[in-house]
Amino acid sequence: MHLYDKQQIKIYNSLSGEKEIFTPISDGYVGMYVCGPTVYSNVHLGNVRTFMSFDVIFRYLKHLGYKVRFVRNITDAGHLENDADVGEDRIAKKARLEEIEPMEVVQRYTVDFHNILNKFNFLPPSIEPTATGHIIEQIEIIKNILNKGLAYEVNGSVYFDVLKYNETKPYGILSKRNVEDLMHNTRELDGQSDKKNPQDFALWKKAETQHIMRWPSPWSDGFPGWHLECTAMSTKYLGEHFDIHGGGMDLKFPHHECEIAQAEACNGQAPVNYWMHANMLIMNGKKMAKSTGNFILPTEIFSGDNPHITKAFSPSVARFFMLQAHYRSILDFTNNGLLASEKGFFRLMDAITAIDDLKAGTASTFNITEWQQKCYDAMNDDFNSPILIANLFEAVKFINQIKEGTASITQDDLTLLKNTVHTFAFDVLGLVNVNQSENGTEKLSGAVELLIQLRQEARANKDFSMSDKIRDELAAAGIQLNDGKEGTTFTTN
Ligand SMILES: [Zn+2]
Repeated sequence: MHLYDKQQIKIYNSLSGEKEIFTPISDGYVGMYVCGPTVYSNVHLGNVRTFMSFDVIFRYLKHLGYKVRFVRNITDAGHLENDADVGEDRIAKKARLEEIEPMEVVQRYTVDFHNILNKFNFLPPSIEPTATGHIIEQIEIIKNILNKGLAYEVNGSVYFDVLKYNETKPYGILSKRNVEDLMHNTRELDGQSDKKNPQDFALWKKAETQHIMRWPSPWSDGFPGWHLECTAMSTKYLGEHFDIHGGGMDLKFPHHECEIAQAEACNGQAPVNYWMHANMLIMNGKKMAKSTGNFILPTEIFSGDNPHITKAFSPSVARFFMLQAHYRSILDFTNNGLLASEKGFFRLMDAITAIDDLKAGTASTFNITEWQQKCYDAMNDDFNSPILIANLFEAVKFINQIKEGTASITQDDLTLLKNTVHTFAFDVLGLVNVNQSENGTEKLSGAVELLIQLRQEARANKDFSMSDKIRDELAAAGIQLNDGKEGTTFTTN
């Protein structure tokens, strides 16, 4: 008997617009694909939020005992600036601007992406494939779609024929659009495109002479269309038909719509049973954008070095803050929201630490088994992390009452309470117990106090070069020592 036999998950399926009971294709196994980042800049906080939603889903499915193969790709080629298949490749453009190789851009921002996700305590996916590592697979899919008569070649580029496809299979089922509306609403790209119809999308693009990211193909030296890589990699690692496909809301159209059409054209069946989309992250009620200054990088949250926040926040606090909203709700990132989450986070962590000192009694005031099921119910209901967190705060109340002696708990219930709290807070939500006393600033102040003491000893020994060295090195690190009558204090900038 596995946990997943006892807990029934409902998933909101973007395809049907309804919550559906989750039944995996193979009993006990889950295949999940999530569109990863295009690695041409520092990872956007909105993307972190999307990936965090799927990290929690991955963690919960694993906790229930499913064998999960979670594939999250890295887009390192083919993603043009404009969704209508025009403009420069995002990575090639960055490489041109910074006068480095495209693969240096890819390396730099892949490392950044992994660093940030590690700070937020993400589990690594089972497979993290790259677009450039699957050019051959993409070419094979294009050949297949051409053979089916659902794509056409023009001047070395290959386009998917949306109208032809739509004759037998409806195009637009995910984003609830129909081809007639699309034809009216897609603007003509005066002479820029070889497409028969503007809603067609590129499977292969012939590279312009200056385009450095190029591969040989039967049609031209060029590069694959952006949508194609996800079809190639999901099919390769999860099969032609798999359980869950996720991504940000903004990818629903055209990206995921194109994935469905390509896979249907190629394999003659719908690729995915459950389509899941995470909602946007905004900041101070407005869209986050570098150009308007309404913007924050994940690292700036950890350092506090951004005008929109009044202090630094630990990654676990930021993670807790994000999970206090359901993944399908818009999340408004604000300083006040973070401050409130920080209080809540430490209240929860203090209670979890306090469990170890609780004394068991002869009877339980609370029904812990019922409470535990409420935690599962929250996650079973489309992975409702805010309701789960509300239930964890119920436990905080129990713990504090037991501590104060106004409630009691048996040894068995105490063990169950501890295990359940640990499971949901650490294994499922992925929080890390950083006590306030272990917080970064306190650690820093301990270290600086020690250096101040060493400097005083150096001065007492008339070793002024050492005492100056300590002062100057600290100043270079942004820590100012202030000598006063009461001794030396320090400030950071
Ligand atoms: Zn994708």
